[in-house]
Amino acid sequence: MDKIYDVIIVGAGPAGLAAGLYAGRSRLSTLIVEKEKDGGQIVQTAEIDNYPGSIEGETGPSLVERFSAQAQKFGAEKIIDTVTDMELEGNPKKIIGQKETYLGKTVILAGGAMPTKIGCPGEDEFTGKGVSYCATCDAAFFEGFEVYVVGGGDAAVEEAMHLTKFARKVTVIHRRDELRAVKAIQEKAFKIENLEFMWNSVVKELSGDGLLSRMVVEDTKSGEQREILADEEDGIFGVFVFIGYKPNTGVLEGKLPLENGYVKTDDDMKTTIPGVFAAGDIRVKSLRQVVTAAADGAIAATQAGKYIENLEG
Ligand code: NAP
Repeated sequence: MDKIYDVIIVGAGPAGLAAGLYAGRSRLSTLIVEKEKDGGQIVQTAEIDNYPGSIEGETGPSLVERFSAQAQKFGAEKIIDTVTDMELEGNPKKIIGQKETYLGKTVILAGGAMPTKIGCPGEDEFTGKGVSYCATCDAAFFEGFEVYVVGGGDAAVEEAMHLTKFARKVTVIHRRDELRAVKAIQEKAFKIENLEFMWNSVVKELSGDGLLSRMVVEDTKSGEQREILADEEDGIFGVFVFIGYKPNTGVLEGKLPLENGYVKTDDDMKTTIPGVFAAGDIRVKSLRQVVTAAADGAIAATQAGKYIENLEG
């Protein structure tokens, strides 16, 4: 492709689509490169009630559809391609896809991050129907129900503590008999009445009739398996998985400074390479949510516009 875009956005989740909206609306020629469908992680979310202004019954897909339509309305183009390499120094910058190479004066990295999955049967099928990777997003749906948290690190224990404010009982399922979480967090957790621990255990299977209501857990020492069923009146329990997170930064290794795999930026979403910005879950930040991703995208696109103005005097 010979055309040199003002802005190339890699990733069409909330950060990338918000960046597309802001760039398009600023009359910047904009291309969004996405490897599969729009939306990133939120397309797996059955109900969204923490995005400001989202209406009752808002789902991940319905919100994404409007994000996409709005970016397109303002002229952002989109292409489905998997990015295999990037040449980010110099001008134009090259985004190398499986199908083509795309040229841009600026690049916004918005490829997001993915939670590590347990990898057991039923996990994908019941995501959004009992299985969740985000307590901030989904805790309120489990008000008064039983909830299980998988993992033993800081994230698992902190999120389990948060969930105890909603669920009637929270059980942390950990594969060893000792938590990885720091002692200060452990001490707080052990004092909470409705927080229990199931040691030396791994989840082998998740199932149910539409909603998650059955789980098979294996004892890592004895190999013995047991079935956990939802309370009959509840008909569902929650399984929150916090066994690590992986940013989609494989192609950026060696090109940009990364911290635990995440891209470092300043408050203007600038990376260390002039004209290259990062937005959303892919960057080092404290709260990974749709609202913060969208805000990052808006800032990155605005800064990309300023960068081009300076470039072209
Ligand atoms: P983490 O520290 O890597 O812990 C992952 C946990 O999941 C570990 O307990 C691990 O078990 C378990 N695990 C990994 N793979 C598993 C599998 N396939 N099946 C079952 N269990 C599995 O990840 P994290 O808790 O997401 O934290 C990531 C980073 O963010 C850490 O550096 C953490 O300190 C930081 N963080 C900090 C805070 C805070 O300071 N408030 C809050 C959240 C996160 P093992 O222990 O047996 O390996």
